[in-house]
Amino acid sequence: MDLELATRDVVLVTLDSCRYDTACAARLPALSSLGPLQRAESPGTYTLPAHAAMFTGALPRPVQGYVEIEGAPLSSVWRSAAARPRPQDGAIAVVAPSLMDHYADRGYRVLGAGGVTFFDPAHTCNSLPTRFPQFRYFGRPAASPADAASRVVDRDASLTLAHVDELAEECLQAERFFCFINCPCTHIPYTSPAAVLTEESAALLERLYRLHDASSPRPGHRPIDTAEAAVLRRMQRRSLEWADTQLGRLFAQLTHRRPLVVVCGDHGEEFGEWGRYGHGHPHPSVTTVPLWCGVLDR
Ligand SMILES: [Zn+2]
Repeated sequence: MDLELATRDVVLVTLDSCRYDTACAARLPALSSLGPLQRAESPGTYTLPAHAAMFTGALPRPVQGYVEIEGAPLSSVWRSAAARPRPQDGAIAVVAPSLMDHYADRGYRVLGAGGVTFFDPAHTCNSLPTRFPQFRYFGRPAASPADAASRVVDRDASLTLAHVDELAEECLQAERFFCFINCPCTHIPYTSPAAVLTEESAALLERLYRLHDASSPRPGHRPIDTAEAAVLRRMQRRSLEWADTQLGRLFAQLTHRRPLVVVCGDHGEEFGEWGRYGHGHPHPSVTTVPLWCGVLDR
């Protein structure tokens, strides 16, 4: 175990639904400062199983088989003590049911923030936010009406990363912190201050929601064509670039603490590659996600 890594403050960020190729196409100075973009495979195809696995330390795994931090290859950042032993252990052994328990047991302030509905603590069926002693939710109520038109909205202050200054302040008040942030800006409807709705994209997103809800095209549901998929991909890319700007703002406030930072997609998104849309099924565009790891020091 790398003792120095094991005692650092931690920032864990999930870019919800962010495709690997979206990250490849984007300009991401803050994320690139962590280390190289890695092509990884998620253990889950939608938010709940992907985060349930991640919270035990099972992050999306790089396709080439190792995680790179400050130029050093590691088998993984975290490795649950309950996992099958491997010849080479992870950098940090997780000796608790979850990362949150592990760090809380060591006196860290453990805080979380989320924006997709699996993180709404007001919904009694949601387990993910209950794993945190302190959790803030910025999304729409999970129990609110979910017809296609009502979900196609511009988003700014409602996005988790619009609140990075408050989150940084809460981290810095603690002697040690573990901060988890789930970012919905890359999740359908892909809107953010850098990707606002137009008449064309609003109509397209409403159709996409109907295709999502149907799982596969039904009579009367016109598939998304290549040019339309390009509009959606551009919106996700722009929102990812906005996330990068906000993460850069967060990193600037936390750098002096030299935290360990891990940023990844929880799963990707399909724009009709196998005739399907959204996520929750094992197409490579859904299971392949971006991953960055590093220690903030500049
Ligand atoms: Zn998700």
